Amino acid sequence: MLIDFHSHFSSPDSIVCTADASAPDRDSALLRCAGLLPDKWTVQGQEQLFSLLARNSGLQLGEVGLDRRFESIMPMDRQITILKQELEFAILKERSISLHCVHATKPMIDILKELDFRPYSILWHGFNGSPETARELAKLNVILSIGPRFSGNIESILHSNPYTVPETDYEGSNNLEHQKILENQYHRFPEDYQDQAEKMFSLFCHQ
Ligand SMILES: [Zn+2]
Repeated sequence: MLIDFHSHFSSPDSIVCTADASAPDRDSALLRCAGLLPDKWTVQGQEQLFSLLARNSGLQLGEVGLDRRFESIMPMDRQITILKQELEFAILKERSISLHCVHATKPMIDILKELDFRPYSILWHGFNGSPETARELAKLNVILSIGPRFSGNIESILHSNPYTVPETDYEGSNNLEHQKILENQYHRFPEDYQDQAEKMFSLFCHQ
């Protein structure tokens, strides 16, 4: 099976995330995550997210993160404070975490350095950074996930952080289209990457 490490489409091979404090469809995904991004954040939303996680032990956290594009909606300092609350809650509840990070690499790495999380229980989704950043995240035991928009050299990212996996970030609802994008992503990785991806999935969700 080709595992999709980050999508918004509930398929049996996907780690499915939300961004608006809702839970993904029940039973139809490989792993379900509920998240909340800064542009959709409200006090009630965060309460709902925490209550969902508290009530469903199989639910993970994602996607949550920092995004410079949303600074007019929520300043970066506030994004950082809120993200820390969310991460601390998930770590306390022993959940895996899918991170979203757009133009905020430095503050995100600073946050990760302060946190005491289980190795490989955090996945940096949509990674689009340099091999140097990938190396820094390897030292922190963070999994990197690479989507269709990644423009760099996957080989050099893999060399810097062997814990790198494919994702689609697919937001549509067409099974065939999703499969095609997922297959294309795996083609960008070394041959037989499927086994490696399955091992990383086990590490991520502690199975
Ligand atoms: Zn996403």
